[in-house]
Amino acid sequence: MAGMNHVTGGKILYRRPNSGISLSTPRLPWTEMKAQVLDLCSENYISLRFIKSHQEIKAIIDDCLIMVRPIRSTIMYVTCLHELGHFLSKRSLTTKDDLASEAYAWQWAQRIAIIWTPVAERHKNKCLRLYLESLGKPKANHIFWKVYKQ
Ligand SMILES: [Zn+2]
Repeated sequence: MAGMNHVTGGKILYRRPNSGISLSTPRLPWTEMKAQVLDLCSENYISLRFIKSHQEIKAIIDDCLIMVRPIRSTIMYVTCLHELGHFLSKRSLTTKDDLASEAYAWQWAQRIAIIWTPVAERHKNKCLRLYLESLGKPKANHIFWKVYKQ
């Protein structure tokens, strides 16, 4: 996408020309976050359904559908990207290991995100901790430990 300076390595490196957003300000209007999610959905023929309850947030692979809350926060933005990661990360989509699928979907979300803030990082790690509780601890060389940062 034009006007974007997106480099990995943990720093916030997004800048839109003339937007007034400085490199040291880790903020992005939620309208831009939403636009990226909508673009990814339409480019990949994935339907997006906005729902009321946080409990129902999920990706339904067979229906090419993700069900999420309205995108008005960093947390919901990265949650949408994570759900999209279940479709668009080949590794997440093809692995039979549920914990690996979750980790790959978060890894994909982090790579594709226009901006990745400390809030996003904390939310990713919180979700990964919850999977750990329900799915159990993987081996030391598991992808989980590459994505999860304590
Ligand atoms: Zn997931």
